[in-house]
Amino acid sequence: MTRAFVFEGLPSRVIFGVGALGKLGAELDRLGLKRALVLATPPQRDQAADVQKQLGPRAVGLHDQAVMHVPVDVAKAGEKAARDVRADCTVAVGGGSTIGLAKAIALSMGLPVVAVPTTFAGSEMTPIWGLTEGSVKRTGRDLKVLPRLVVYDPNLTLTLPAAIAGPSGLNAIAHCVEALYAENANPIVSLMAEEGIRALNASLPTVVARGDDLEARSEALYGAWLAGCSLGMVGMALHHKLCHTLGGTFNLPHAETHSIVLPYATAYNRDAAPDAMARIRRALGGADDAARGLYDLGRKVGAPKALAEIGLKVSDLDRAAEIATQNPYYNPRPVTRDGVRVLLEDAFAGHRP
Ligand code: NAD
Repeated sequence: MTRAFVFEGLPSRVIFGVGALGKLGAELDRLGLKRALVLATPPQRDQAADVQKQLGPRAVGLHDQAVMHVPVDVAKAGEKAARDVRADCTVAVGGGSTIGLAKAIALSMGLPVVAVPTTFAGSEMTPIWGLTEGSVKRTGRDLKVLPRLVVYDPNLTLTLPAAIAGPSGLNAIAHCVEALYAENANPIVSLMAEEGIRALNASLPTVVARGDDLEARSEALYGAWLAGCSLGMVGMALHHKLCHTLGGTFNLPHAETHSIVLPYATAYNRDAAPDAMARIRRALGGADDAARGLYDLGRKVGAPKALAEIGLKVSDLDRAAEIATQNPYYNPRPVTRDGVRVLLEDAFAGHRP
């Protein structure tokens, strides 16, 4: 078979390494950014205040009101905070929720985003934004929201508790898995995705077992970077669509939902994407089956295993299957309502696929 593909790189600068945060000020100077509004969630205020202090006069404010899925009123409050201090950029210190707020501000005001990620979700490497109104989350792609600069410092993940770190790492692996069978998959992204799964599989069990293991956290953050690149550069499929539906309509927690659904979405596509499955098995260190290997990793890192555990009700299954199959989208194996209903039932129960 001859090769044919399209590859499109994304313009961003990445500084990675233990202590990289120390370079943030000089990096802002390099970009000519002089008035940063630092963003955080309420629980990460102290971590963000340290960054603000380190930036000295380059930081003109701290806004700590980021929450999951960027509700429109939260985005509006963020825009007001940026206008009030005449910010010329935002510095998001946190996970996907905080970076999501920075992206919403970029979308409406054009302010460049600088991201300092503290989870493994990968949003910092993508031009994907999301905004939630009521129970409906809209998402879109716009290069305006792609962070101009990303500073990955594994030190910042040391405070990430095991219960958040495990699901967050599996969320990153989900980006890699779907990148491998994406409609517009390409050789560069497949290299990154496979290496991302390898790095996360090798490090996550240690990340959750030993909170102070900087080497493991560094390896996991490296995997998360690769996962974010993969998510940003190719389209996703059934797994991400299902998690989006479950999160948006039933208000299920983002990373936990990803970690539960991933083995079943992988099993659904098992026979339709053999090359992707071979890469996943290899990246998991020679698992006999990709879906079961991912399920076993979830158990090793103590992630929840069943949708029933995180608040979905058996009576929600029909509606979830209905919504997730309403609009057609690409998936290696055709998406049918009955097929998705069975997948959801399995994920609800949490049996090994
Ligand atoms: P999060 O940002 O909501 O963080 C989870 C919790 O952990 C928060 O309370 C946060 O303050 C805390 N936390 C984060 N880092 C910490 C640290 N180092 N120490 C202590 N506490 C810490 O979770 P997330 O999973 O990173 O992000 C989820 C959101 O990101 C969802 O809304 C999801 O849709 C979005 N997302 C978007 C993209 C994209 O490309 N646009 C990609 C991935 C995720």
